[in-house]
Amino acid sequence: MTNHPNGAIRQRDGMTYAVVTRMPAGIVTPDDLEKIATAGRKYKVPMLKITSGQRIALVGLQPEDVAKVVDDLGPLAKPETAPCVKFVQSCLGTEMCKYGNQDSIGLARTVDGLFKDLTFPAKIKIGISGCPRCCGESHTRDIGIMGTNRGWTVLFGGNAGTRPRFADVIARNLSAEEALDCARRLVEYYQNHAKPHERTARFMERVGMETLKSDLLAFLPYIQIEKVS
Ligand code: SF4
Repeated sequence: MTNHPNGAIRQRDGMTYAVVTRMPAGIVTPDDLEKIATAGRKYKVPMLKITSGQRIALVGLQPEDVAKVVDDLGPLAKPETAPCVKFVQSCLGTEMCKYGNQDSIGLARTVDGLFKDLTFPAKIKIGISGCPRCCGESHTRDIGIMGTNRGWTVLFGGNAGTRPRFADVIARNLSAEEALDCARRLVEYYQNHAKPHERTARFMERVGMETLKSDLLAFLPYIQIEKVS
């Protein structure tokens, strides 16, 4: 199924496309919603769908309207021409949830800012959770970051697809700065060593934790390697 040059996703009917918005942490402003609603009416979009990645998909676009919709939405619909971060989802965290240990929304926004312009061997999905109840689905995302009452836990290599995989726990009890540095180094390692189209789950199955430890984790001062599980 060939996608549109703007990164729009070709639909089952083989003729129409879906444009999916960028909405880091699932946060949306009234102006964003008005832009999406205006495009929906202007181009007679048959369906607006909230996705599992906390974004909004404009579904059923005619091919000739895709570029115009992307243009009208501006930064909300940045064209995707190579594998990249598809979304950074976040739970409510300490902003809103009584169980929150850490500020998941704030960290998700920072992670999006760090990674949004990077390309990868395959798409990357990121889930940030403010406590171990893990409403941000951190265990089944390529990169997961989960808050606890002792800091942040970083996870890598998760996937919820047809071959689901729980992410490996890379480090625990990190500060926000350490968690961000760890995530950045993990994606750099993945960029440099993964095969084309190899998702992080399959990459970790092929490379293994022992190699990751000796190649990368042993050099990160905030990781006590004997505690890596
Ligand atoms: S993961 Fe924890 S902090 Fe986040 S929404 Fe769920 S219960 Fe609340």
